[in-house]
Amino acid sequence: MSLIVQKYGGTSVGSVERIEAVAARIARGHIDGNQLVVVVSAMSGETNRLLGLAADISDQADLREKDVLLSTGEQVTMALLCIALHKRGISAVSYTGRQVPILTDSSYSKARIQEIDGSRIRADLACKKVVVVAGFQGVDPDDNITTLGRGGSDTTAVALAASLNADECQIYTDVDGVYTTDPRVVNDARRLDKITFEEMLEMASQGSKILQIRSVEFAGKYNVPLRVLSSFEEGPGTLISLEENDNMEKPLISGIAFNKDEAKLTIRGIPDQPGVAYKVLGAISEANIEIDVIVQNVAKDNSASITFTVNKTDLSEAETLLQQIAVDLGALEVDSDKHIAKVSIVGVGMRSHAGVAAIMFEALSNEGINIQLITTSEIKITVVIDEKYLELAVRSLHAAFNMAVDTVPLE
Ligand code: ASP
Ligand code: MG
Repeated sequence: MSLIVQKYGGTSVGSVERIEAVAARIARGHIDGNQLVVVVSAMSGETNRLLGLAADISDQADLREKDVLLSTGEQVTMALLCIALHKRGISAVSYTGRQVPILTDSSYSKARIQEIDGSRIRADLACKKVVVVAGFQGVDPDDNITTLGRGGSDTTAVALAASLNADECQIYTDVDGVYTTDPRVVNDARRLDKITFEEMLEMASQGSKILQIRSVEFAGKYNVPLRVLSSFEEGPGTLISLEENDNMEKPLISGIAFNKDEAKLTIRGIPDQPGVAYKVLGAISEANIEIDVIVQNVAKDNSASITFTVNKTDLSEAETLLQQIAVDLGALEVDSDKHIAKVSIVGVGMRSHAGVAAIMFEALSNEGINIQLITTSEIKITVVIDEKYLELAVRSLHAAFNMAVDTVPLE
């Protein structure tokens, strides 16, 4: 008998018919003898609808009341799902975050889980009940309702799985797994059977939006095997787990992630001296602007330039700041470019194989794509290019690494 935590996202419970389909799936799992804890999201669109209601009244709605409001979305789903389970003769009980209880800190709208008391759930499981828990919410030490941030039901599911020591945490969604890259861009993109936590984190933070990043971090930290699978069709999905030691099976590259969310800023003609990078980048971070790729260059005349990327939504603020810094440092010029795209290849196989970067650069060069910036980590190489070549770049890299087939690297 296995203890499995399943999470159903908004589209999987988007209508009464879909809730019934989820109930039918849970009924099958239950009959197979598994202990099931089911975490639900709000019906798709509901959280946004609720936010809209608050915004219609005030654009400064109190955060505590907003959390009370938003937590209702999941509460509706959990009750409807239990009703659908009861209709199928399954004994099931629903709990809000507060009823479990899932204890969090008091940061409304982005609360962090501190502790879960699993005793109530365990008692129900022992009585062969299916336990349905509202995702995305908890309760703070002063008995206030909190929410965990958008997409937070994933984190609820993983945290419950960790605390109950579940055998697996299954995330049911509208895609049948994690793909080598976005199938809308590359039509022979392939579903991955498995991927490591580390790789998934790189993929997620690079713009693959299947799972809330925090839930993957959590799963990695507590070593909770996570499986992403479709609630609309049968299939094995993608298992996200710790790296295995079978080097033979390891593909060189697991995935290609990309986004067009960033813009590039350059400051030129600054002194090549200690403290200058701090003056430039420190001021940007102090304004709470997240910096991603950073490159510094020194010219022959000993003047330096620094290029970095920020989210497009922060561009104008960052540029204004940079203009001021440029005056202070007597810089030559500042310029910006928002027509850029970031493409990353990700794979733990990179650790043990040289030459991955060369294959990447060759593929881009064959297409005449100019690389503007490069950064690397142990398991990732990122390039920044002109956004108009994004799809071409992704397709040519997918082909260059032969990712449409499940390759085994040659030693
Ligand atoms: N309902 C919340 C949201 O839309 C949480 C979730 O679905 O994970 O963000
Ligand atoms: Mg989601």
